[in-house]
Amino acid sequence: MKIQEILSVLEEMAPLAYAEDFDNVGLLVGDANTEASGVLVCHDALEAVIDEAIAKKCNLVVCFHPILFSGLKKITGKNYVERAIIKAIKNDIAIYAVHTALDNHKQGVNKIFCDALGLTNTKILIPKQNFIQKLVTYTIPENVEQLRNALFDAGAGKIGNYEDCSFNSKGIGTYMGNEDSNPQIGERFEFVENEEIKIEVTFEKHLQGKILKALFSNHAYEEVAYEIYELQNPHQNIGLGMIGELPDTMKESDFLKFVKEKMECSGIRHSEFLNKPVKKVAVLGGSGSFAIKNAIAAGADVFLTADLKYHQFYEAENKLLLADIGHFESERFTKNHIVAYLTEKISNFAIILSQENTNPVKYF
Ligand SMILES: [Zn+2]
Repeated sequence: MKIQEILSVLEEMAPLAYAEDFDNVGLLVGDANTEASGVLVCHDALEAVIDEAIAKKCNLVVCFHPILFSGLKKITGKNYVERAIIKAIKNDIAIYAVHTALDNHKQGVNKIFCDALGLTNTKILIPKQNFIQKLVTYTIPENVEQLRNALFDAGAGKIGNYEDCSFNSKGIGTYMGNEDSNPQIGERFEFVENEEIKIEVTFEKHLQGKILKALFSNHAYEEVAYEIYELQNPHQNIGLGMIGELPDTMKESDFLKFVKEKMECSGIRHSEFLNKPVKKVAVLGGSGSFAIKNAIAAGADVFLTADLKYHQFYEAENKLLLADIGHFESERFTKNHIVAYLTEKISNFAIILSQENTNPVKYF
């Protein structure tokens, strides 16, 4: 199996188009056309992890955080990033990062976080904007089923928990072809009035190429009439953070104790207790201070995230309990999820969970 085949499976789990613009996801090092010998899944592709990959004969390291984030002008091994990259290249090891592609996924980092706490009724905390487009096309009734199915197969028509969604309306289309035309119905220079069906479907914008290919290869007309619009609706299944509910309310102190145990935290920093029962819990794995206002607006009793600064604890404003459980801790089960996913999709292949603890933060 080529490394590329494994990367395609990873892309199905976390489409790179879901990643944030600032991010650096995908294949960072290596040649995707190389034969894969094994996959090592880790949180951070540090030099020690590359050593582990060499020892375990894995030539693909899948990491959550991209080890290469900003541009490098020199690679001399003077810091931990350059040393990891040099070692990977010298040993023909490819590195692939998922990061915000998985953060933004409905089944991604924050769902894993919610599942670890047993939260139910989960939904995205900050649904992604400007991610949905709409295709409108017109065709003869005999072509509708084939065309619509091809569009669905290409990924159009998914709304929330529903698929194959479309709107179809009947109308009259008109046209007249010039001397170079070759109309399916009617003749050149003939004014044709025809019963047509207008099909409307939505799709995620990164699928546009696939959708247009399906449209052009399944439409009955020589000249395909279509329009594409950008919609302003947020995408309810893509976005950062998640909010869910505990099965039963808990006292704030009991809840933090519970989180500490479930997420294996060495310590939790938190804002003042409000002496209110906890039921609605917002989470955002990794640095999530930007989402405090969203957690408050969503009516969360608690917001669990990481990397909060002193002044940001004030932003709780006595509206919720704000808790910093540690960056690594808030994302700790992500790598297990990737291993489980790959193992299910690719059988009889070495998919190994890294044993290196790459958390740079130690507690005394
Ligand atoms: Zn992170």
